[in-house]
Amino acid sequence: MLANPRGFCAGVYMAIDVVDQLLDICAGEPIFVFHEIVHNRHVVERFKARGVTFVESIDEVPNGAIVVFSAHGVSPAIREEARQKRLAAIDATCPLVTKVHAEAIRYARKGYQILLVGHRHHQEVVGTLGEAPDSMQVVETPADISALTIHDPEKLVYLTQTTLSLDDATIIIDALKRAFPKIKDPPASDICYATTNRQTAVRAIAPECDLVLVVGSANSSNSVRLTEIAQNVGTPARLVDDRSEIDPAWFVGVETLLLTAGASAPEDLVHDIIETLVRDHGAEVEQHDIRHEDVEFGLPGTLKGMMRARGIDPAGRRIVRSDDGVRLREWFDRHRIPFRTVDMTLRGSAIAN
Ligand code: SF4
Repeated sequence: MLANPRGFCAGVYMAIDVVDQLLDICAGEPIFVFHEIVHNRHVVERFKARGVTFVESIDEVPNGAIVVFSAHGVSPAIREEARQKRLAAIDATCPLVTKVHAEAIRYARKGYQILLVGHRHHQEVVGTLGEAPDSMQVVETPADISALTIHDPEKLVYLTQTTLSLDDATIIIDALKRAFPKIKDPPASDICYATTNRQTAVRAIAPECDLVLVVGSANSSNSVRLTEIAQNVGTPARLVDDRSEIDPAWFVGVETLLLTAGASAPEDLVHDIIETLVRDHGAEVEQHDIRHEDVEFGLPGTLKGMMRARGIDPAGRRIVRSDDGVRLREWFDRHRIPFRTVDMTLRGSAIAN
């Protein structure tokens, strides 16, 4: 069973497109990316092979060079360092991460203390925390709550990392509400649509399966969360970067397998695994559509500005989404393998061949 939605989200498409576009419009110029553009080994290695340099410190970027801020966002301190070095900074932060930054700034200005639910060392949390370090504390687990320093329990709000497990976030938020009954909710859920949809699909399909395979890298928060969601519903799960990491011994006694991918995992890696499952294990493939997604983010303003400065009209440089669904169908057709889609979006079970 193939989960749909799976793989790239709108923020990842946009961030990858930013680096692709820069490689095109700045051919021959060095391009630096602060932190992994998205948390996927293959995406990063493919860009490295095309000459992109990934750095973990602005000190590593020469004065005046082009630097891209990754999809996870950065703190104001990093922006300031880039400004001091007169870097041409292009911001590929996902707009849904920027939304959480804006909430942090707004509540801090109103005098609230902010409890940021998330993973302390994740790049996104580090960036959000940097917006209002004196007003924010990170909560990773309910056990952290007793160590918080709270000045006024009536002036408290919580925000969350965008890629948390919905299950874990609910446990922590419930514990926060028990400890601080007056704590405010964010204006809208900070856990993003892509995280929610991919987790919803796993929660819906995994109980019917003997094993879940998640394509994604170990440092991808939303990919790791998908394995946890599967385990929460009682189905063992494995996280793999690509098909070379699959051990055939995992399939002993497995009749039904769910294949999905984190929001930063390229679809061609999923195709490779389907090919292996069909060729070596006689798999039949059925895609379960749980939610349809049509979210798209335009090019960041900083990139459009650079294009205009170079005499390029950004209007003609639309983000191109590769139609992986069509490619997958073509692959099945070419190999004369039946491929069925089960539409579960209306809780129905219509089968389209
Ligand atoms: S997972 Fe969500 S927050 Fe992260 S890049 Fe994708 S859409 Fe944006």
